Amino acid sequence: MKEQLEKLIELQKIDLEQEALRVRVDERREKVDADTENLQELEQMLDDHTKKLEDTRAELSSKRDMLEKAQHDFEHANEKLNAVTNSRDYAALEREAENFKKIISSVEDEIGKLQKALAEADGKDVEMREAYEKLSAEIDVARKEVDEAAASIEDQVNALKAKADAIAKTIKPQFLARYRFIRSKRSGAAVVSASGGTCTGCHMKLQPQAYIVLQRQNSLECCQNCQRIIYFDAEEAAELHNHPAK
Ligand SMILES: [Zn+2]
Repeated sequence: MKEQLEKLIELQKIDLEQEALRVRVDERREKVDADTENLQELEQMLDDHTKKLEDTRAELSSKRDMLEKAQHDFEHANEKLNAVTNSRDYAALEREAENFKKIISSVEDEIGKLQKALAEADGKDVEMREAYEKLSAEIDVARKEVDEAAASIEDQVNALKAKADAIAKTIKPQFLARYRFIRSKRSGAAVVSASGGTCTGCHMKLQPQAYIVLQRQNSLECCQNCQRIIYFDAEEAAELHNHPAK
């Protein structure tokens, strides 16, 4: 029994090692995926911003047309003013010219505001594009690194798998099935020490009778609380007895 437990513990060590290798690569891949989502959001923002920029440019262009027309109208009114002979027509044309002058001044104001807004938006556009390019380049590098890391652990994982398979062959099928079942249900260890009378998997105290049975090491025992396989290590128990955990 003791030997079988030792094999199970050895198998678990290899399995956990494999798992740790994979988790590390998976975590890095998750980060790259999250960054890619951020990049897509940034791309959407950039598109929206570019559209607004185009709208502002179109508005500016239409205001410039308006200005040109008002200037033309103003000149035309002035020409007529110079040619007029009676004072009633003169007064009417003068009002007309004055009116065009007001329009010119107001459109010029609007153009000034639009130019200012456009300059700001252009600056922001450059900033956003730079941020996008930077993040995009970082993601490319990170993804390449993760792919390389995944490829490089593949050999290590395969070697560990071969080792695990060899050990598994020396373990009784029902013990192995029990171990695999717990591994599939619980994260982390499936075989844990209970040398001090407490299951180190779930930290629950064993029933005195169960602890006595465990110490005999004649059977495969499981924690009644978390179902993990528990084992008794005499050396560890002595150590715990001499230096109890605070
Ligand atoms: Zn337990």
